[in-house]
Amino acid sequence: MTATVIDGKASAARLREAIAAQTARLKSDHGLVPGLATVLVGNDPASEVYVRNKRKTAEALGFKSVHVELTADTSQDDLIARVRQLGADKSVHGILVQLPLPKHLDETAVLDALDPAKDVDALTPVNAGLLLSGRAILKSCTPAGVMLLLKEYVGDIAGKEALVIGRSPLCGKPAAQGVLAANATVPMAHSRSKDLPALARRADILVAAIGKPEFVKGDWIKPGATVIDVGINRVPAADGKTKLVGDVDYEAAKQIAGAITPVPGGVGAMTIICLMQNTLIAACAQNGLLLPQF
Ligand code: NAP
Repeated sequence: MTATVIDGKASAARLREAIAAQTARLKSDHGLVPGLATVLVGNDPASEVYVRNKRKTAEALGFKSVHVELTADTSQDDLIARVRQLGADKSVHGILVQLPLPKHLDETAVLDALDPAKDVDALTPVNAGLLLSGRAILKSCTPAGVMLLLKEYVGDIAGKEALVIGRSPLCGKPAAQGVLAANATVPMAHSRSKDLPALARRADILVAAIGKPEFVKGDWIKPGATVIDVGINRVPAADGKTKLVGDVDYEAAKQIAGAITPVPGGVGAMTIICLMQNTLIAACAQNGLLLPQF
C-alpha cells in the first residue's frame, strides 16, 4: 500500500477561506484592513517570483499591500531606514524582507531593525525567544504550515518520536519547537549528526528541512511514518528543463510511509497563506483586538 498524499494545496485553500472570512469581519466590525509590506532588494528571479506571489495573495484577500523595491546596490543604511519607516507606518501590520539579501548587506542588522510586532516571518530574536518560551504570537510561516498539516493528517502527536533534520532559524529550529509544543519527543539532526539513517528509522514523524535534493532515502523511513518534506530544490529534468524536488526521495518513501507531502504541493503550498495568517494576527494584536483562532 502506498502512502496517503498530504494535500498542502487543499489545506492552504481551506485556511485561505478562513482568513478571507476573518479579514472581511475585521473590516466590517472594526474598519481595520491588514497591511503587508514586502521589501525586495535586487533582482534575484526566484525572490521576484516569491514576492509577486505574496503580494498577489495579500491583494486577493483584501489586504493593503505595500511594495518597496530597491536596487541591488542599495546601502545598508538606506535599507534599514526603509524598514524603520515601514515600522512606523500604522497601516502596515506585517513587514516581509525577502531573503537572501545581496551579499554586501548584513541580514542580522536588517532583522534587528525590524519591529518584532510586524515581523511576520518570525525571524527576529524577540520572536525566536517568544517561541522558545511558549509565548509566540507570530510563528515562522513554513513550520506553521508543517504543524497545520500534521494537525489535519495525524491529529494528536503526543508521545510520538518526531525527528527534525535541519536546524536553520527559518525552518528546522522553529519546526522542532512546533512538534515539541505538541508533546512529541523531538530529536534534531544536522550535518554533523552520526548515522542519520538509523535516527530516521526510529521516527514516527520525519521532518526534512535540509536543502539537498532527495537526500532522505526510502529505506530510512519507518513503515507507516508521516514524512513532511520541507525541501524545495531545483534539479535538471529528463526533458532538458528543470523540476522541483524535495529533500526526500518521494517515489521510494511513498512505498513505505503512511503519509507524505509531495513537492511541489505539500508544505510549500502552505507557506504563503501562513504569512497572510500572521499578517492578520499582527493587525489584531497591534490594535488590541482578540487574536483570530484557526
Ligand atoms: P539551510 O539554512 O541551508 O539549513 C539546512 C540545514 O540542513 C542545516 O541545519 C544543515 O546542518 C542541515 N544539513 C545540511 N546538510 C546535511 C546533511 N548532509 N545531513 C544532515 N543535515 C544536513 O536551509 P533552510 O533555509 O532551512 O531550508 C531547507 C530547505 O527547505 C531548502 O530546500 C529550502 O529551499 C526549503 N524551504 C522551503 C520552504 C517552503 O516554503 N516549503 C521555505 C523555506 C525553505 P548544519 O546546521 O549542521 O549546517
